Amino acid sequence: DSKFAHLPRVPEAPIFAVMSAYKNDPSPVKLNLGMGVYRTEEGKPFLLPVVREAELLLVNDLEAAKDYIPTTGIAEFNKLSAELIFGADSHAIIKNRVVTVQCLSGTGSLSIGAEFLARHYKQHVVYISQPSYENHPNFFIRAGIAVNTYRYYDPETHGLDFQGLLEDLNSAPQGSIVLLQACGHNPTGVDPTLQQWEVIRQLMRSKELLPFFDSAYQGLVSGNLEEDAQSVRLFVADGGECFIAQSYSKTMGLYAERVGALSIVCKTEEVACRVESQLKDVISPTYFTPPVYGASIVTAILRNREMYSQWNSELKAMIERLINMRKHLFDALCDKGTPGDWSHIVSQVGMYTFSGLSEEQVAFMTKEYHIYLSPDGRINMAGLSAKTVPHLVDAIHAAVA
Ligand code: PMP
Repeated sequence: DSKFAHLPRVPEAPIFAVMSAYKNDPSPVKLNLGMGVYRTEEGKPFLLPVVREAELLLVNDLEAAKDYIPTTGIAEFNKLSAELIFGADSHAIIKNRVVTVQCLSGTGSLSIGAEFLARHYKQHVVYISQPSYENHPNFFIRAGIAVNTYRYYDPETHGLDFQGLLEDLNSAPQGSIVLLQACGHNPTGVDPTLQQWEVIRQLMRSKELLPFFDSAYQGLVSGNLEEDAQSVRLFVADGGECFIAQSYSKTMGLYAERVGALSIVCKTEEVACRVESQLKDVISPTYFTPPVYGASIVTAILRNREMYSQWNSELKAMIERLINMRKHLFDALCDKGTPGDWSHIVSQVGMYTFSGLSEEQVAFMTKEYHIYLSPDGRINMAGLSAKTVPHLVDAIHAAVA
């Protein structure tokens, strides 16, 4: 008899269920607005030209890329990643108070960060926005850290529930961990303003709450890498401690390469050294050392001024397409006279529109129109094109009518 026959089956994550349903749908008009990946106007995966260029450089030196590297990853990659999010002139970097370790994309960075916290900060709970990226609670649950939520999204205004957020953080126990999304909040497309971030920062520091930033969309909100890092930089500038998980999946289109970084900003260089040794102790039995290829692509781009500015332009073009899609969809719904206020489609930012469509309405759109999106009504704007907007508008119109 199997030793595992008693195991209950774990349901598939909703987004993967949506993706396999899409794959199996033979309809020629099917539309994939589910998983958060960037697509071109033709609906194709997008290889950034600057990434192709970096890869062509790498093939000239393939031998160098097959050896083991340190547990913490490529040192230059770590340094450049820290500078990207904190700014090259960051006081924390200059004072060697930042530890950065290369990890397996955003997921790996969050996971290693959560495991570190479970070992050394376990008495505290983590607060996660309501709603948030569906995997967020799992990192902490698996590590054995209790998860709580704070109010974030107001379904009435389709915007930020700032009052609710402040109340909930204010009543969190002293020292709690707070997971924050640096920009382009998944799934709501709603970010605090810089003034609101400052109020959040003051409240969190006064209660000694520990910020853990997830930065998966730097550059894909404003089109400007510096601007999209402002929230993080505000917290780092005050000298307090802070965790940051960075991902290059969306921002360089390197989904499959699993490249990202975890940074921990510490109070002193001395603490940073201890923390780094503890991070190695978490990583070493997990996967020993991270993969080289994806991080080499990123390093090639970040270290070269021309390629860096080319990357900037390509990000700008990507976000311009997303903003265009917002305008297009909003105008088309207005033209059709679809009931409801759809202005949040243009006021929300980044890759996602949190449409407000109910799970039933989404199911209706899938069944009748072969349109696939997350059950919570999140639309990946990058899955849309001028050609497919009318089909989506017909579906939304029929769903809300
Ligand atoms: N954080 C956020 C906010 C995300 O949206 C995602 C991907 N959807 C991730 C982390 C994880 O992605 P990856 O591991 O590819 O960086």
